[in-house]
Formats: sequence, structure tokens, C-alpha cells
Amino acid sequence: MARPRILVIGAGIIGTSIAWRLASRGASVTVIEAGQPGAGTTDTSLAWVNASSKLDSSREYFDLAVRATAEHHTLADALGETRYFFPSGHIEISRESGEADRLRSKVARLQKSGYCAQLIGVRDIRRLEPGIRLPATAVAASYPDEGWVDGPAMARGLLERARGSGAKVLSHTTATHVALRDDVVTGAHVAPGKLVGADTVVIATGRWTQDFLARLRVDVPLTDVAGKDSQAVGVLVYRGEGLHAP
Ligand SMILES: Cc1cc2nc3c(=O)[nH]c(=O)nc-3n(C[C@H](O)[C@H](O)[C@H](O)COP(=O)(O)OP(=O)(O)OC[C@H]3O[C@@H](n4cnc5c(N)ncnc54)[C@H](O)[C@@H]3O)c2cc1C
Repeated sequence: MARPRILVIGAGIIGTSIAWRLASRGASVTVIEAGQPGAGTTDTSLAWVNASSKLDSSREYFDLAVRATAEHHTLADALGETRYFFPSGHIEISRESGEADRLRSKVARLQKSGYCAQLIGVRDIRRLEPGIRLPATAVAASYPDEGWVDGPAMARGLLERARGSGAKVLSHTTATHVALRDDVVTGAHVAPGKLVGADTVVIATGRWTQDFLARLRVDVPLTDVAGKDSQAVGVLVYRGEGLHAP
């Protein structure tokens, strides 16, 4: 049977993961990237691998985050690569008594759902972060399975692996639209009259997806959370062995 020809548009963390998985399973893969691989949203991400911050989201989103967190550990083992995923653990500190109650309840709920979470006191916090200044009554939650990802490095690394499995990569090439013949996908155009042929097209264009698909009159429901009062950029401190996030 002929190898399926699959075109992946967009080489962020999503497109490169898909390209690598498909190529390593024997598909004939081509990746088209408008700029540099990994230089889109993947390059501006906080990239915190966690489910603890999703506890109050929908059950589906929380479950997805739990599975994704576990999957990063599995993937790191499979790749034998230590420069993409940093399983630093994460500690969430409460300094005031009202906060401590909230944290206790959060940890109890996470533990009930099977997530690895535990309460720790000042001595343990200082063991993890020797330089930290805290009130003696501080309480923290420790999430040892969490960590962070170097998104661009991981995207580039996965793309290299995809290449190693035969994938072709066209960087600095913009797909203008999906090509159809009699409503059947035949690939994507990268310039007037220039078609990259494929049996299947994977659109991994991130926040550009609505624009890209508008021509096909396909509406993908993306939400723009950036508004006057929204927190659009997180603050992340990589310190010692641990990850601290707001
Ligand atoms: C401030 C911030 C903090 C975040 N923090 C976290 C976090 O802590 N944890 C977490 O899990 N997620 C976080 N995210 C979300 C996460 O970073 C994104 O979900 C993820 O990087 C999206 O990857 P992607 O591959 O879909 O998109 P991108 O990385 O944007 O990749 C899409 C690629 O498609 C290319 N492209 C677009 N159109 C075309 C075209 N027509 N032709 C060819 N190429 C095209 C672009 O150039 C780009 O490289 C955060 C995001 C932001 C902005």
C-alpha cells in the first residue's frame, strides 16, 4: 500500500509533534512553516506543564492536563532527551491564613482525583528553595510531577526527528490556502500556481487558524483572551530546582 502523503502546516509545538509521530509511523510527511520552526506562540509560552492550575476549569480540561503532564514524562523517557522537558516540580506558597485554607482544600481535591500533590511546611519549602524568605506560618503545596518545557528547543528537536524519519521541511514558506478538487483535499498552495500535494492536510497554524481557514468558509471557534483587563503575559521565575508561577 502507498504511504499516505500528509502535509502539516505550521511548525509550532503542535505541528512538529504531529509531524514526528506521523513520520515515525511511516507516513510521507511534508511540513510547511511560514517562519522559523518553534518561533510562533510556542516561543512566547510560559510552557508550564501542569494540571494543578486547571482544577477549577471543566473536568475535561483538567483531565486533559493530567494526561498531558503524564505524557511529557513518558515522552522525555522515550526521547532520552533532557533539554526539552524539565520536571522541576512546582510549589505554590500561601503566606496568609485564608490562603492556607484554600490551599489545603485544593490539595485535598487534587489528591482525591489521584493527582500528585502534598502540603509542605516552611522547613520543606526552605529545603527546596534555600534562599526564600517566608513567614513561619507559611504553607505550600508541592506538585512534584509538574515542570516546564523549552518550547522552541522541543519543536526544533521533534522536527529534526521527523526529518530523520524522512519528513521534508519547508521553512519560510507560507501556505496560502488548502487546495481542493471536487471538494477533495489535494494539498496546499504556497504561491500562485504552486501546489504542495498531499492526501491529508493537518492545519497546525495556532492563532492564525481562523485567518487561514476563512477562505474555505470554515469557522474555528478561537477565543481571544487578550483584553484591557486580562493577564496576557505570565511571570515566570526559574530559580534553583523549582518552578514558580503566579
Ligand atoms: C503568554 C503565554 C503563556 C502560555 N503559557 C502556557 C503554559 O504555561 N502552559 C501551556 O501548556 N501552554 C501555555 N501557553 C499556550 C501554548 O504556548 C500554546 O498553546 C502553544 O504554544 C501553541 O502551539 P501551536 O503549535 O498550536 O502554535 P504556534 O507555536 O503559534 O505554531 C503555529 C505555527 O504556524 C505557523 N503558521 C501560521 N500560519 C501559517 C501558514 N499559513 N503557513 C505556514 N505556517 C503558518 C506559524 O508561523 C507558527 O510557527 C501559553 C501561551 C502564551 C501566549
